[in-house]
Amino acid sequence: MTETIEAPAALKQIHHWIGGRSVAGTSGRRGPVFNPAAGRQTAEVDFATVEEVDAAVQAAKQAFPAWRAVSLARRAEIFFRIRELVHERREEVARILTSEHGKVLSDALGEVTRGLEVIEFCCGIPTLLKSEYSEQASTGIDVYSIRQPLGVVAGITPFNFPAMVPMWMWAPALACGNTFVLKPSEKDPSASFWTAELLREAGVPDGVFNVVMGDKVAVDAVLGHPEIKAVSFVGSTPIARYVYETATANGKRCQALGGAKNHMIVLPDADVDMAADAAVSAAYGSAGERCMAISQVVAVGEVAEPLIAAIKERIPKVKVGDGLDPASEMGPLVTKEHRDRVASYVENAAAEGATVLVDGRDAPGEGFFLKPSLIDDVKPGMRAYDDEIFGPVLGVTRVATYDEAVRLVNDNPYGNGTAIFTRDGGAARQFQFEVQAGMVGINVPIPVPVAYYSFGGWKASLFGDRHIYGPEGIDFYTRGKVVTSRWPDPATSSVDLGFPQTR
Ligand code: NAD
Repeated sequence: MTETIEAPAALKQIHHWIGGRSVAGTSGRRGPVFNPAAGRQTAEVDFATVEEVDAAVQAAKQAFPAWRAVSLARRAEIFFRIRELVHERREEVARILTSEHGKVLSDALGEVTRGLEVIEFCCGIPTLLKSEYSEQASTGIDVYSIRQPLGVVAGITPFNFPAMVPMWMWAPALACGNTFVLKPSEKDPSASFWTAELLREAGVPDGVFNVVMGDKVAVDAVLGHPEIKAVSFVGSTPIARYVYETATANGKRCQALGGAKNHMIVLPDADVDMAADAAVSAAYGSAGERCMAISQVVAVGEVAEPLIAAIKERIPKVKVGDGLDPASEMGPLVTKEHRDRVASYVENAAAEGATVLVDGRDAPGEGFFLKPSLIDDVKPGMRAYDDEIFGPVLGVTRVATYDEAVRLVNDNPYGNGTAIFTRDGGAARQFQFEVQAGMVGINVPIPVPVAYYSFGGWKASLFGDRHIYGPEGIDFYTRGKVVTSRWPDPATSSVDLGFPQTR
């Protein structure tokens, strides 16, 4: 958890967003926000009190009855407006992401684009909420199902996708008619404030979307608040487990997505250049700070030597630098503490019995940079294998057979994403059939599902029974009701010769 600090007066102040306006925090507790490329603090963010979280929940509660009554046609219209505004301003938010997270601008734009896909999916909310109807289930009796919003729901999000992961939550939640309280990462909070202003401009009524900045105090206030009906969480596994256990003990619906250790299996028949391109892109993109990053290559049989040679050849060509420089392909890590933690895995690898083939710890400058590292002979039982490193460090494990490779993936406590590289359709199908992970790539290293499927891992990568966004997201943010009805009298009617319109 980020330590609270005393900050110089000139720093930008980042406040909460409650009831449609910026609200300065009163706790006196704040956290630092850095420009990781410069290694310099640029802002400080308020840390909410329990009372401030309650104020946000009360604003959301007050806004709920009117918002849930807004017709599907009007909600879709607002979502189309949100879509247009985010699309128009994607450069603006991408710059915010780069300046606080560090990822390069092209990657930040990619994040916004993938988030936009979820917003676009939500533009179809009238279709998504269509239900079933059984006429004459009994004589003169019809039965039908409807899905209704839950009420006030909350999202708690990680630092690594400060715009997209909140979009995974607030977009379906609002489209379904809920009101929302977001607790973003305190490391890069500005994108959430930007989102709040944009949603107001798009016509989302005050109180429907609220943001409380903060740390564990705010999270615990969310988890304990009796008016919050559901919590979506994305972050590390220990906190995901804690959030899931606490939220469900308090009677809330919860989906808590955790960490990952994503293996990429390369079979002997794979195209080595394609596999090496994929491994380098998926391991070092966003400096490895992606829950779907490939952190472990499993080389089967004789592919190991040529594959490692091809990866090594590519690493020096990765351009590391300030994310705002269009030439940069990989930016810094989010904080100095995180950079130092990631570097410690490279430092300790040899002592653990692994072989450091490329050591990326010699990055110059004041920023929180590391260059790509590559470690061979990484095995279960080593910290570099067992931990989620969450940085630009790629491990290689050599195995003799496909069965050994799959066993590694299936024995791993995480089960977020995995990929296989092969030209053998039968092997790929067998892999898809037996691998224990929620998202599987076949010659695709980062298989993040498109917005009309749902995203989620297995095992310690997800607590709860609903994946996020897509159809399961709609399910998560609604509850079912079944109506059994009999109408002995005809409904009242009136003459209207106008062309029928949505109301
Ligand atoms: P994190 O778990 O440290 O923080 C996530 C959120 O929890 C933040 O809002 C933070 O303020 C809050 N938090 C942190 N410590 C807390 C505590 N003790 N009690 C209550 N709340 C607490 O995660 P992070 O470092 O921001 O993000 C990186 C992690 O997120 C990685 O493990 C990554 O794999 C994971 N992640 C997973 C997915 C996924 O879809 N499975 C997606 C993105 C990131």
